[in-house]
Amino acid sequence: MRKPSLISLNQLIKSLDLMFPNAKCELNYNNLFELIIAVSLSSQTLDKRVNEVTKILFSKYPTYKELSKADIVDIETILKPLGMHKIKSKNIIELSKKLDSLGVIPNTLDGLMSLPGVGRKCANVILSEYFKIPRIAVDTHVYRCSMRLNLATGSILDVERQLMDLFEEKYWYYMHIHLVLLGRYICKAKNPLCDKCLIKDCPSR
Ligand code: SF4
Repeated sequence: MRKPSLISLNQLIKSLDLMFPNAKCELNYNNLFELIIAVSLSSQTLDKRVNEVTKILFSKYPTYKELSKADIVDIETILKPLGMHKIKSKNIIELSKKLDSLGVIPNTLDGLMSLPGVGRKCANVILSEYFKIPRIAVDTHVYRCSMRLNLATGSILDVERQLMDLFEEKYWYYMHIHLVLLGRYICKAKNPLCDKCLIKDCPSR
């Protein structure tokens, strides 16, 4: 059994709200297809870079039908600034082929996770962001901040479950986004900016 957190959850929610009053997903998208592609491209890179790349990608390949028939070399050229561009190019073409064969985009965790290049974190982001189904997606920022704040421990799946246990469902959407922003801009991996952080009772301060 995990030790109870020392931090006040109400205070944490208030501090995160104060630090990130206009929090929202930082990936640009116009529809579900674009969100799935953007989220699947976002691992190990910056959302800003994904937005620059998807602007070009979606102007050339606006639907999964068109992307499913794309020349992989062309996609690799477009995705090059993201890193891991060869595997990401292969995945988004395969993903588009799968969507084309299904004829419909899945709206369940298992359905989304059956798509090439879509793991549990991506599926949770899509469910929460697009379908408004409450979930907490655990990426590297959420994981690190949860540890430092003593909110959760263990594997990524353990952390996901513990966070969903700890907070009422109505907080899940913003808890995910707030912890991503906290990790990205303040509670950085190497040098956390504790002097700029409003979470005064953080046990790692
Ligand atoms: S006080 Fe420091 S370690 Fe704690 S959440 Fe804020 S930045 Fe991270």
